[in-house]
Amino acid sequence: MKIGVLALQGDFDAHRRRLQELGAEVVLIKKPEQLDKIDGLVIPGGESGTFLKLLGEAGFEKLKQFVHAKPTFGTCAGAILLAAEIENPQQAGLGALDIGIRRNAYGRQIDSSIREGKFGDAPIEMVFIRAPKISRVGPGVDVLATEGEDPVAVRQGRVMAATFHPELSDDARLHRAFLDLVRNGR
Ligand code: GLN
Repeated sequence: MKIGVLALQGDFDAHRRRLQELGAEVVLIKKPEQLDKIDGLVIPGGESGTFLKLLGEAGFEKLKQFVHAKPTFGTCAGAILLAAEIENPQQAGLGALDIGIRRNAYGRQIDSSIREGKFGDAPIEMVFIRAPKISRVGPGVDVLATEGEDPVAVRQGRVMAATFHPELSDDARLHRAFLDLVRNGR
């Protein structure tokens, strides 16, 4: 099982380490054509607008085909890229998750924080860094994790996203759930 981590920008290395610790073979994806050789993809945090610039039009189209066909897990900026609707400001999304998402939604004062939320019914540490908020959850989307009243991790079919950074906590549950998704193909 080969897992790609999009390595254009952002904190891709923490994802690489976590996935390797869980026994996955990891490929850092720097060129769109490398997507043809992997079974699943992680899109890390970073700055979603910068990702769009670095991908360019052809890279965006190639990535769009991938995320509509194969398991993908986006965290923070990665979650923004996977969404159908993005605001603050508006920008293009890959439309793999039927959600609306608002960038930098916690404002400057609580720009970054570590909070406790729930993954299913179990408590889990969540690291938020200039995080977005999921403002709309479509009917086909399952909420996997919440923080207070807010959905913070979701799944639709083969695609998962979290608005926080599970790769920065000492807890492998979300990555393990993603690897299960890749292994089971759904
Ligand atoms: N604020 C970033 C964006 O809007 C996301 C931050 C992150 O990935 N940690 O793209």
